[in-house]
Amino acid sequence: MTTKPEKFYKLKCVACGKYWDERKTSSHCLSCHGPLDVEYDYGYIKSRLNNYALKNAPISAAKYISFYPILDLDKLISLDEGGTPLKKSKKLSAELKIDNLYFKDETSNPTGGFKDRGSMVEVTKAMEMGAKAIINVSTGNMAASISAYASQAGIPAYVMMPEGMPLGKVAQTLAYGARVIQVRSNYTQVTRLAEEIAAKHGFYLAGDYVFRGEGQKSQAYEIAEQLYWRAPDWMIAPVGCGTNLAAIYKGFKELYTLGMIDKLPRIVGVQPEGANVVYEAYKRKSRKLKEIDKPETVCSAVAVSMPLDGLKLLNAIYESKGLAIQVPDGEALRAGKELANKESIFVEPSAALSVAGLKKMVKQKKIKPDETVVCLASGNGLKDPISMLKILPSPPSIEPSVSEVDKYLKMKLYNIQATVDQDKAEVLWRRRPTKEQVAKAAKKVFGLNLSRSYLKMLHEEVSRFFSKGKEMVRSDLQHIIEDVLKAVPDSQRLIKVEDFSVSTSKHKKAVAKVDVRIKNKRVSTDIAEGVGPVDAIMRAVRKVIKKEKLMNYWLTDFDVKIDQRGTDATVEVSMSLKDEKDNKVIATATSPDVIVAAIEAFERGYNILYNKGNGKK
Ligand SMILES: *Cc1c(COP(=O)(O)O)cnc(C)c1O
Ligand SMILES: [Zn+2]
Repeated sequence: MTTKPEKFYKLKCVACGKYWDERKTSSHCLSCHGPLDVEYDYGYIKSRLNNYALKNAPISAAKYISFYPILDLDKLISLDEGGTPLKKSKKLSAELKIDNLYFKDETSNPTGGFKDRGSMVEVTKAMEMGAKAIINVSTGNMAASISAYASQAGIPAYVMMPEGMPLGKVAQTLAYGARVIQVRSNYTQVTRLAEEIAAKHGFYLAGDYVFRGEGQKSQAYEIAEQLYWRAPDWMIAPVGCGTNLAAIYKGFKELYTLGMIDKLPRIVGVQPEGANVVYEAYKRKSRKLKEIDKPETVCSAVAVSMPLDGLKLLNAIYESKGLAIQVPDGEALRAGKELANKESIFVEPSAALSVAGLKKMVKQKKIKPDETVVCLASGNGLKDPISMLKILPSPPSIEPSVSEVDKYLKMKLYNIQATVDQDKAEVLWRRRPTKEQVAKAAKKVFGLNLSRSYLKMLHEEVSRFFSKGKEMVRSDLQHIIEDVLKAVPDSQRLIKVEDFSVSTSKHKKAVAKVDVRIKNKRVSTDIAEGVGPVDAIMRAVRKVIKKEKLMNYWLTDFDVKIDQRGTDATVEVSMSLKDEKDNKVIATATSPDVIVAAIEAFERGYNILYNKGNGKK
């Protein structure tokens, strides 16, 4: 059965107050481009409510169906979203001295985040309106969510993403079946493009628009119910477009209007410093949002230069006497690590913003010990592990033997902590340090008791680094230690590239020559040609290995990462090699010079394989 919209809701522009027919627009006001809101006849909703089910049925997004602007319930597209746990803090609450601290764990939704609640309503509305295809712009999570719901609905989803979004989200979106286009631009600019395409091709425009927020309200209903029909004192959440937190506030307000809770929470929105439009407006005590040029943050799910629902959110913050907070990326990453470590909830950096914001509030004594606080854990960390790895160490690799494990325990290698933000660039040495200085730094900075042979190797590597004339910062030392711990000691090394020379130019092949020490013998090669300098050197090394009839090998992968910005950045090379018996190794090396890093990574990998092949441990 289909109900008429005028029976119980209307779409209204939040900025100018004009009403719109949902068949004309459900994305933005056609006269002032402001965000839209759904205005309900709550008397009508109340008359339809099944109070028994509302109080007694288990929580789920679909349970609150009477609160959504859905006209034809037969068209409902649901993947059993919502019904997520409200977890009472296990450790942080004691540390922060907040007795009633909770995490609303949205990571357990069908595609890993709260967006599914919004997609349920939004894709259902698209079906109601007879959409033949959906178009959406997303930094990844919404793309994955829309794509899953569209495939259930049996209509194509076109997804536009800014280039370079987290791989987990891209993979998910493609697997659910969306037609993905990467665009070389930022989220806000791509959004404008999608609006045009939607109008031109008649696609249903899905995104941070009015129907999505209506679905995402259910987080508030669930939280209230999980707190035995009470609202928390503080509701803290990450902010990108502002859609979600504004929706959560609306959810609480509705319960209040219907007399189901007796107060409202204060709303706290947290943004990273590099995408802080709402925070900036709040700081000016204004409702005017100033677009930023380029959002710059590891919190990719909130990297928004102009929040579509910023106005709605600011209204909620001011009305509830809440706050907007900004934090640096490093604090979001650290909060993410803490949330995993202390509460066993693994989130992506954007989702950790709420905890980073909470910590800031505690520092500023904004929260009383007996107040109830809910932090939103908005999305699963498995979708973007690379960002979290930025502050986690790369674990050492060992051969499968008890003595190697003992060595790991004795040297306390588990103590290695990754260096983060401000510490990362701390200069340790400007000139080559002594072996004692290196030992001291390894102990002091990383808590390691290196054995003599490892210390010798480490000192050698550090010395090599200085031959390129660059100072060494903390993160350089971390990477070099990690590399050395994956290498084999000197005594077991078969080959070592003592020196090389290479020349190349834009229009010619590169030519290289290498001097290789094999055990105690020094072998120089004839020149070898390659497509580029690294390739030419690798070919020269291969020539030596052939000539000396040494173990054959295959290079299966080669990856270069730049650790810092700027032209004097340190590069990390990782190389995967395998031998005839299919033994495999991944070796890494760090240097200011990409060619040197490549040679060292190769040398390490080859020596490890050689030792394996010879049955040495
Ligand atoms: C979308 C998203 C946000 C931001 O929500 P907005 O509605 O854009 O403010 C935060 N965290 C995660 C994990 C998200 O997917
Ligand atoms: Zn308007």
